Amino acid sequence: MICVSNELTASVTDFDPTPLPPLREVIAEHGLRARKSLGQNFLLDLNLTARIARSAGDLSGCGVVEIGPGPGGLTRALLATDAREIVAVERDPRCLAALAPLAAYSGGRLRVIEGDARAIDITTICPAPRVIVANLPYNVATVLLTDWLEIIARDPHAVGSMTLMFQREVAQRLAAKPGSRAYGRLSVFAQWLCAVNIAFDIPARAFTPPPKVTSTVVRITPRAIPLAEADSAVLQRVTAAAFGQRRKMLRTSLATLGCDPHALLATAGIEPTARAETLDVTAFCALARVFAADRKNTLESGGVSGS
Ligand code: SAM
Repeated sequence: MICVSNELTASVTDFDPTPLPPLREVIAEHGLRARKSLGQNFLLDLNLTARIARSAGDLSGCGVVEIGPGPGGLTRALLATDAREIVAVERDPRCLAALAPLAAYSGGRLRVIEGDARAIDITTICPAPRVIVANLPYNVATVLLTDWLEIIARDPHAVGSMTLMFQREVAQRLAAKPGSRAYGRLSVFAQWLCAVNIAFDIPARAFTPPPKVTSTVVRITPRAIPLAEADSAVLQRVTAAAFGQRRKMLRTSLATLGCDPHALLATAGIEPTARAETLDVTAFCALARVFAADRKNTLESGGVSGS
């Protein structure tokens, strides 16, 4: 999806951050002592926030959903792009107070919504075309991403792109290829629906307070159609069974699906001795299609389903 320019966006680059107080002042004024329970590690380096915003590509005419704006560092960088508007979801009431002057200064381009991002359907808060850009709170990052991938599975055009910061280990899982230790359920689900590209690392010392791990910005772009045909829920069920016992051969690990794993693997053209980490995304999709057909046949013949 390309976000197109329109009249509304013609003047948006006029945003001038110069009169805004430094982020450290905002933090001090609003007593934003970082809370671990909210995954708060603030990014105050303007070069880095600008680099993240640039990694999102051309945002002309796009609505940007930002999760967890905190004191607003990345939000300022996003306001300096050609984005149509920024819709920021923040759970911490202290941050909401800190963001109010920025929203007022933005000339209506920043809307801040108070709430838990896990309970909010992003398609209802920001009209399309929309993208997501966020320095995600690590404790809920994979839950949020999985929710967004499910939205994309239903509608590949729901989100133009996602430019997200994760802890490096999660970023590596997202981009991992078959045969690597990091390859798992999240790799299959994300790569089935999207192209995943690692953008750059950010060292822990760049954050206030520094987290224990390195962070990585990832650019995730939904495909117009998924890599291969499969039902999202069935694919997730098959990968859960396969990677649930990743060291075992598939003829053993897939037994938890409640059907004959040998027949399933033979019909999908997969060696029964193969292991989950060697199967590529299209092979998992083949397994999901065969498993879905097997369950349908079982139900139609009045047999006992494995579900
Ligand atoms: N964007 C800011 C930055 O880059 O400095 C802050 C990023 S900090 C890693 C994560 C932010 O997400 C915090 O502001 C935190 O309060 C917020 N947050 C944590 N859990 C949240 C949730 N479930 N829904 C919305 N925001 C949340």
